[in-house]
Amino acid sequence: MNLRALTAFLLLVCYGTAALPQGLPDLGDASSAQLSDAQERTIGNRIMREVRFDKEYVDDPEIADYISSLGARLLAAADGPRRSIDFFVVQDDTVNAFALVGGHIGVHTGLILLTQNESELAGVVGHEIGHILQRHQARMIHDQRGVQFTSLAALALAILAARGGSSQSGQITEAAVASAGAIQMQSQIDYTREHEREADRVGLSLLERAGFSPRAMVTFFERLLRANRVNEFKGAPAYLQSHPLTTERIADMQDRVENLPPRLVADSFEYRIVRSKLRAGAGSPAEAVALFRKMLEDKTVVRPREDVYGLALALRRDRQFDAAWKTLAPLREGGHPHPAFELLAGKLLVDMDRPAEALGVFRAALRQHPEQRAIAYAYLDLLVQLDRPKDALAYLEERLRTVQDDARLYEIQARAFEAVGKSVAQHRSLAEAQYRRGNLAAAVEQLEIAVKAKGDFYESSSAEARLREMRALLENERAAEKALKIS
Ligand SMILES: [Zn+2]
Repeated sequence: MNLRALTAFLLLVCYGTAALPQGLPDLGDASSAQLSDAQERTIGNRIMREVRFDKEYVDDPEIADYISSLGARLLAAADGPRRSIDFFVVQDDTVNAFALVGGHIGVHTGLILLTQNESELAGVVGHEIGHILQRHQARMIHDQRGVQFTSLAALALAILAARGGSSQSGQITEAAVASAGAIQMQSQIDYTREHEREADRVGLSLLERAGFSPRAMVTFFERLLRANRVNEFKGAPAYLQSHPLTTERIADMQDRVENLPPRLVADSFEYRIVRSKLRAGAGSPAEAVALFRKMLEDKTVVRPREDVYGLALALRRDRQFDAAWKTLAPLREGGHPHPAFELLAGKLLVDMDRPAEALGVFRAALRQHPEQRAIAYAYLDLLVQLDRPKDALAYLEERLRTVQDDARLYEIQARAFEAVGKSVAQHRSLAEAQYRRGNLAAAVEQLEIAVKAKGDFYESSSAEARLREMRALLENERAAEKALKIS
């Protein structure tokens, strides 16, 4: 059981739940028949709590930060009140992207790899943003169907919770959800098409305003539809199932972009290296090495930097550290340095048992790119590993002054506190990490351990105060979930 069940859930939440009566009031209507913002967030947080712990949730900071910045760039181009949307990547070869109630957008790695340029990817993400900005989920949840909605949400959560259980029970629940989704969708197909048109409209305008090519969105959807007819891509139907794609839809999009001047948009280097990273991580290490070698075969004059980087990554996976180092070297010496190259260089130095040099590379890279959390993690992990927890704690203190929402920093901090034998502080850090991962119950648990652990008076009373705060937050959350029948 995996995130595919979640996607099935999406069909229910986003597209399958409620019949909109004809002539439903327009957007922005705050009638009580709709799901409130707070209710939406409660459901979204509840689902994300499961998603973040799923093994298919991509935690890689370089990949995660890329999709977040792409999403933020599109979102910044939107009209109206600011909405925060959280973007994440799911390790899945199928071509899909989905919007969750409460403002979360997931993008499959298969989609990132299938797009031929960044505007195509931005088009699909922009379309998902459209579903959220138009409040499609909330609009579909009408009071008469509210009960049904919450019981479906509860079912989906039960499925997510059953992931660790026997595969048989997993299959049964997955099938149950799939059939419910199919039935619901059958009867709701018209509304769904209307929503698709709206999401396309919003997506295209975000693309245009954010400086991407709106035509690329049309091209991509055309290709997807064509490929689906001949069954060319595995997994294309996953997307098409949740986002019915018709020739009318494409014709609509074509009408909209027809009068726009053609625009040549270069892909960001981040887009290119994220794709290399995903490719280098797919298949066996030997296959990945062979893939990049083949891609570089005829390119003796200009070797695309992202392909060279991909080869170095693949070689590292194949434990050919020297070869990886030699492959990477010209990229670092060239006129276009990039933090991803420095991160890989530092990791290779660790692999080659040259930790002091690795620390130097990480430190220099952090001076240049202090915002790069991937490098900060690697640096801190290495300090802890080298049994220098005090240095790690000193750097963490500095970093946590400006970065407050980074769960992973708190996790590393917990390990460093453990290494110096400070158990109250260790469990407090773990609590802060869990809190930032949206898991209040686990945060409370850690604080309860912290309070019981041996510490000085100040530490203990501060942990107690934090425990009271977290308990209150947890109580509120549970009450809200109970009211929605999703606890
Ligand atoms: Zn859609």
